[in-house]
Amino acid sequence: MSSHFLQSYLRRLPAVEKLLQSAVLEEVQAHFPRAVLVKEVQDTIEEKREMIRQAGSEAELEPLDFSTEFIAAEVLQRVKEKTALNLRPVINATGVLLHTNLGRAPLPRAAIQAIQEVGASFSNLEFSLMTGKRSSRFEHLEGLICQVTGAEAALVVNNNAGAVFLALNTLAAGKEVIVSRGELVEIGGSFRIPEVMAKSGAQLVEVGTTNKCHPRDYREALGENTALFLKVHTSNYKIMGFTTAVPLRSLVKLAKEYQVPVLEDLGSGVLVDLSRYGLPHEPTVQESVSAGADLVMFSGDKLLGGPQAGFIVGKKRYVEMIKNNQLARALRVDKFALAGLEATLRLYLDEKTALREIPILRMLTTSTEDLEQRAARLLEKISPLLHEGFQVGLLREKARVGGGSLPLVALPSCQVFIEPHHMNAGAFAAKLRKAKRPIIARVRKDRVLLDLRSVLEQEDDQLLSSLESVI
Ligand SMILES: *Cc1c(COP(=O)(O)O)cnc(C)c1O
Repeated sequence: MSSHFLQSYLRRLPAVEKLLQSAVLEEVQAHFPRAVLVKEVQDTIEEKREMIRQAGSEAELEPLDFSTEFIAAEVLQRVKEKTALNLRPVINATGVLLHTNLGRAPLPRAAIQAIQEVGASFSNLEFSLMTGKRSSRFEHLEGLICQVTGAEAALVVNNNAGAVFLALNTLAAGKEVIVSRGELVEIGGSFRIPEVMAKSGAQLVEVGTTNKCHPRDYREALGENTALFLKVHTSNYKIMGFTTAVPLRSLVKLAKEYQVPVLEDLGSGVLVDLSRYGLPHEPTVQESVSAGADLVMFSGDKLLGGPQAGFIVGKKRYVEMIKNNQLARALRVDKFALAGLEATLRLYLDEKTALREIPILRMLTTSTEDLEQRAARLLEKISPLLHEGFQVGLLREKARVGGGSLPLVALPSCQVFIEPHHMNAGAFAAKLRKAKRPIIARVRKDRVLLDLRSVLEQEDDQLLSSLESVI
């Protein structure tokens, strides 16, 4: 291109100061650090300059808008993107309730409030208000956990992987742990029983076969060096067909004979009997405790519906030994999780309240009719927003629990589907992910599915405005 045109286009670009003083940027100066604003203005101008220099002909540049207003709006968009937090809320419309990649359980309101209050101020985290002396962070929760689960003693650590590791390290380092072959689970790629066992210093002794394990298998493996029996809940798979497993109760009986403890990694840690609400029975913590397990380990952020944490509940003498393990400090739970857990556990003192207030339990037990009504309302509001390029409607596919819990359960659910004609469904799903409050949807062939079972009720309006912003 002739240098004459080049120069005339370069001259058209507004100066840095002029952009900063434009109405658009002037107005938002107070909201963003000045250094960020200036840098984005400079970078944007530099990119435009480069674009002009690289242009092959004037025809390429002619349709572009180099006005101050237009470029200022572009800068504002860039500044907003730069200053937005990387970790932020999304709308889970996947139909997978406990989506590990989406942060597992959303918290109940009471937990959020407790975390906010404790975080905004000092707290009695390790201080006794009674004596004015130092106390332990474990004390805030222990009584409540025992009340809810029926256990004698309890300890909370960073997560369930940590709980299992710490329990094994404390009770079985340098000794043997007997586990059924059918229970050597892997969860989410990085938690594998054999590896965790090895790291804890305990030696794994596998017994039985993949599908069958009998009391005699455990009995024959017992020896001088046996530290304990470990039972692991196969929380993300099921072995079906001709199978036999030794129930916890029988294992406890056998263990008493030989005076070795029985530990159970329960995985999810559900505290209400889901079979009362039309779901398959998932072993509860209370059942394991009353069956006589010496220690039961489970997560705080799966079906329990609270913050990330790992519970260790059971016999006092073993819990005390674990508390005294130096590694307990490395795995300790933080004050936010403690605050959130206490508030969450309190909701369990009344089961009706728990089902109403704990989002994951509410999502699990919401009736299909409710979901259908919400989906129909959403559809009614979406339809006028969509131009001819889309087809929309309702579907009744199944939702899943996810997060390594209840793997075989298909929950009846209801979805709004959107089928774009001018782009493929994957590209439309990508647009939804870029909304200010991103929507994470399911893609099925040519359609994007928005499953209402995993969307929090209070997010329905937000879902609509996010949709509106990208179509
Ligand atoms: C989920 C799970 C774990 C790991 O728990 P995190 O809280 O994710 O650390 C361990 N064991 C079983 C059986 C599980 O289901």
